[in-house]
Amino acid sequence: MKKRILITGAAGFLGSHLCDRFIKEGYRVVGMDNLITGDLKNIQHLFKLETFEFYNHDVTRFVHVPGNVDYILHFASPASPIDYLKIPIQTLKVGSLGTHNLLGLAKEKNARILIASTSEVYGDPLIHPQDESYYGNVNTIGPRGVYDEAKRFQESITMAYHRFHGLETRIARIFNTYGPRMRLNDGRVIPAFIGQALRGEDLTVFGDGMQTRSFCYVDDQVDGLYKLLLSDYALPVNIGNPDEITILDFAKEIIKLTASDQKIVFKELPKDDPLQRQPDITKARDILGWEPKVAREEGMQKTYKYFKSLSKEELLKSEH
Ligand code: NAD
Ligand code: UDP
Repeated sequence: MKKRILITGAAGFLGSHLCDRFIKEGYRVVGMDNLITGDLKNIQHLFKLETFEFYNHDVTRFVHVPGNVDYILHFASPASPIDYLKIPIQTLKVGSLGTHNLLGLAKEKNARILIASTSEVYGDPLIHPQDESYYGNVNTIGPRGVYDEAKRFQESITMAYHRFHGLETRIARIFNTYGPRMRLNDGRVIPAFIGQALRGEDLTVFGDGMQTRSFCYVDDQVDGLYKLLLSDYALPVNIGNPDEITILDFAKEIIKLTASDQKIVFKELPKDDPLQRQPDITKARDILGWEPKVAREEGMQKTYKYFKSLSKEELLKSEH
C-alpha cells in the first residue's frame, strides 16, 4: 500500500518540488493550495497522474481531507519579503491558524507532520553562523515581524502538540533556497537580479550590499527535507547551504553569469533586513547524514536557464 502525503503550498516553489520528489519516491500525493502566491503551472504536469490529487483550499479555514493520511508537509505561506509585506494578515494567519488546523488534522489522522520554519526565526542574528540553539533577535513589531513571529508561533504550537499530544512532528529551519519555479516577480534577490539582467536593467543592491546570505539549491533542500521527515528527530534542524556571500559580490556573479553589462545601483536597505545569515548544519550532517552537494555556480546555471526559458511577456510582466 502506497503511503499518502498531504503537501500544503503545493503550487508554490518548494511545495511543487516536494510533490515531484514524493511522487518519484512512490507516494500518493495530495496537494493543497489557495494560489495566493503560487501557480498551478508549477504542478500541471502532475494532474494527469493517478497518484496526484489537488485541493484548492485556504488552510486558515478548517482543513478536511477524506481518507487516510500518513504524512503532512505544511509549506503554505508567503515566503518572500515583498509578498508578506503585501499580505501581512494572511501571512500571520497561515503560520498560526493554518498550522493549528494542520496539527489538528495530523492528530485526527495519526499522521507525522513536518512544518516549514525558517532562518527568519533567528531574525537579525547576533551570533554567526546560526545554530539551532540560538533563540534569535526578532523585532516583533517591525514589518518582517508578521512572517518571523508567525513562524516562531508555528514552532511553539508544533512542539506543544508534540509534547502534549505525543504527535510525531518535525521542524525544518529552511535557509534561503533557490531554483527553477521561483516567481520572477516575487522580489527575492535571485529572481530580482536575473529578471533585471534579462530585461537589460541595472541590478538593485539594497544598502551597501555588505549583508550576507547563503543560498541552497532546491534539489539539495528537498533532499534534506525528505531525510528529516523520515528521521526520528523532533527538534528543529537547519537545512541550508553554508556557502556565504555578500549581496554585492552576488550581484557581480549574476552580471558574469548572464554576460550582461548591467551596472549595479544602490537602493535603501529595507527595515530589519538581516545583516548576516549562514546556517550551521552540524546537526543535519550528524542526524540526517545530509549536506548540500550543488555548488552555487551549478545551481545558478540551472536557475538562469529556467528564467531564460520563460516568455518575453512573462519577463516584462515581472517588472516592478
Ligand atoms: P511560495 O510563495 O512559492 O509558495 C507558498 C505557497 O503557499 C504558494 O503556492 C501559496 O499560494 C500557498 N499559500 C499561501 N497561503 C496559503 C493558504 N492560506 N492556504 C493555502 N495555500 C497557501 O514560497 P516558497 O519559497 O515555496 O516557500 C514555501 C514554504 O517554505 C513557506 O512556508 C516558507 O515560509 C518556507 N521557506 C522558504 C524558504 C525559501 O528560501 N524558499 C526559506 C525559508 C522558509
Ligand atoms: N536584495 C537586494 N536587491 C533586490 C532584492 C533583495 O539587494 O533587488 C537583498 C535584500 O535586501 C537582502 C538579500 O538581498 O539583503 C536577500 O533578500 P531576499 O528578499 O532574497 O531574502 P531574505 O533573505 O531577505 O528573506
